[in-house]
Amino acid sequence: MQQTHREKEKPYRVLLYYKYVHIENPEEFTAEHLVFCKELGVKGRIIIAEEGINGTLSGTKEQTDAYMAELRKDPRFTDIFFKIDEADKHTFKKIFVRHKKEIVTWRFDEDIDPNETTGKYLSPKEFYEHLQRDDVIVIDGRNDYEYELGHFRGAIRPGVKTSREFPEWIRENLGQYKDKKVITYCTGGIRCEKLSGFLIKEGFRDVAQLHGGIVTYGKDPEVQGRLFDGKCYVFDERISVPINRTEEDVIISTCKHCGTPSDRYVNCANPWCNVQHFCCEACEDEHKRSCSPECAEHKDNRYVKEQLAKQEAKAAAVK
Ligand SMILES: [Zn+2]
Ligand SMILES: [Zn+2]
Repeated sequence: MQQTHREKEKPYRVLLYYKYVHIENPEEFTAEHLVFCKELGVKGRIIIAEEGINGTLSGTKEQTDAYMAELRKDPRFTDIFFKIDEADKHTFKKIFVRHKKEIVTWRFDEDIDPNETTGKYLSPKEFYEHLQRDDVIVIDGRNDYEYELGHFRGAIRPGVKTSREFPEWIRENLGQYKDKKVITYCTGGIRCEKLSGFLIKEGFRDVAQLHGGIVTYGKDPEVQGRLFDGKCYVFDERISVPINRTEEDVIISTCKHCGTPSDRYVNCANPWCNVQHFCCEACEDEHKRSCSPECAEHKDNRYVKEQLAKQEAKAAAVK
């Protein structure tokens, strides 16, 4: 059906951005940037290192516009690319601006400068074309729990919980593909910058990466997220965002308890476990939003506490 009117614009924006560029005195820049963000009222998580900046934040349209304009005034960030989503509200509770050694924690034996060694950049359209070839190996550059929620069709499941585990996993599992054409992707592109560089250094001959990541791919008017199955995991309160805008949109994950298709990722209500798992709405009460019977019965179970608080509030309202 043809859309006859534009959807109403939402009041908030979520920004995702990074740049590998030398930052002199990163500690000082971090402190100043935190003050700037607090004054502006944006919330989110920004990591600053000598090698660059990596951020995701939320704010009103005005706040995020001001943030982007200010950052671009700095000659180091004039050409920084912002991926922008609309939102109904803030998607973070606080603002964190932190100085770290790396803007993505890889801890490679030998550091990789993506401005020197990185895979060829593929536009969404080029990436889509590569996905349809039989001779191309697709590597998901994210963690296993991100892959579970959604991934490109045919991509190899990454057997890692953090980026730090990638070197070992690649050496143990992907050596046979060194002479193949290999393409990588991640959420916003930042992880592929060094991951593809690492693959090249490991002897992979033909390595390319999805420029701008899954979120850029999902916004491309031509490919419309085709061949991405499920949703894209994001590191904010939304947990996931839709990518595939065609009728191919599917749920690939299943409820841990009953096995029905569900992309409802929840944290286990046992605060000492907290493991993220799929739990459909229907199963939430019976399993107390927990990953196991032990967690459901745990004395600190948050779901039980929430329900008690709700009952008390109701009782108080009746009085
Ligand atoms: Zn269920
Ligand atoms: Zn648990």
